[in-house]
Amino acid sequence: MIPGIEGDPLVYLNGEFTPLSQAKISVLDRGFIFGDGIYEVVPVYGRKPFRMAQHLARLARSLDAIRIPNPHTAEQWQALVARLVETLDAQDQFVYLQVTRGVAKRDHAFPRNISPTVFGMTSPFARPSAELRESGVKAVTMPDERWLHCHIKSTSLLGNVLARQYAVDRDATEVVMFRDGFLSEGSSSNIWVVKDGRLLAPQKNHLILEGIRYGFIEEMASAKGIPLEMRPVSKAEVQAADELMLSSATKEILPIVSLDGQPVGAGRPGPVYARLRQGYDEAIAAL
Ligand code: PMP
Repeated sequence: MIPGIEGDPLVYLNGEFTPLSQAKISVLDRGFIFGDGIYEVVPVYGRKPFRMAQHLARLARSLDAIRIPNPHTAEQWQALVARLVETLDAQDQFVYLQVTRGVAKRDHAFPRNISPTVFGMTSPFARPSAELRESGVKAVTMPDERWLHCHIKSTSLLGNVLARQYAVDRDATEVVMFRDGFLSEGSSSNIWVVKDGRLLAPQKNHLILEGIRYGFIEEMASAKGIPLEMRPVSKAEVQAADELMLSSATKEILPIVSLDGQPVGAGRPGPVYARLRQGYDEAIAAL
């Protein structure tokens, strides 16, 4: 694979690698018209994808949920990701994959006989800095006003976009959202609560996106003997937390040290965060 020129990396679109500046889709693509598509973000460390099988399984689940036939086998997706990684020199990258229902005359109902649009790109990944891991981040609470199929990693992200901007407007990194008084998730992350040494997280259901880090943290908690309760978590419990954390592909795990301007626990990263962070770094080093 020939690397793209500086500032104009190669991207994948419908079977071909082209410079980003030349990759074009039809304005009738249903991804553009309706947000009728799904996506994935796979982090790559030392040029090796992290938890690829889990990402591809979630991609397949999202496609199934919106009834788009999976255009590729797992092996083909893996090969595509490997080729994308080759287009950049960066050791750490994040690969973005998107599938939309395809191009058709505008009509809400599914068109017949169209092929999905497949897009892939990769970007250099600057991991959260040591400073950020030590200082932690600020978050603000808000009601979760999104739809009821949050388990689908849909490109229809307006609710998430508005939520993230709500945080940015308040000088915070992320929102912590509540539906009917119970914790759901962040605009683009899962949220974790620590109380008396126990880790609390909302159950995996249609109200949250099951992060690939959700499963990873579940495994780490079990390996490290940290009790994990997956159950409805009330706003009062979040506000009384000893520690709060967020997790996502690009943020990894970060401590939330301030919520709505109030310190979380001691107002600095706590011991459960430190243990999970160590496990995260070890897993990456072992890739
Ligand atoms: N929830 C939402 C709404 C997200 O956008 C993300 C990030 N994709 C997550 C949770 C975390 O998922 P992951 O660990 O796979 O990045």
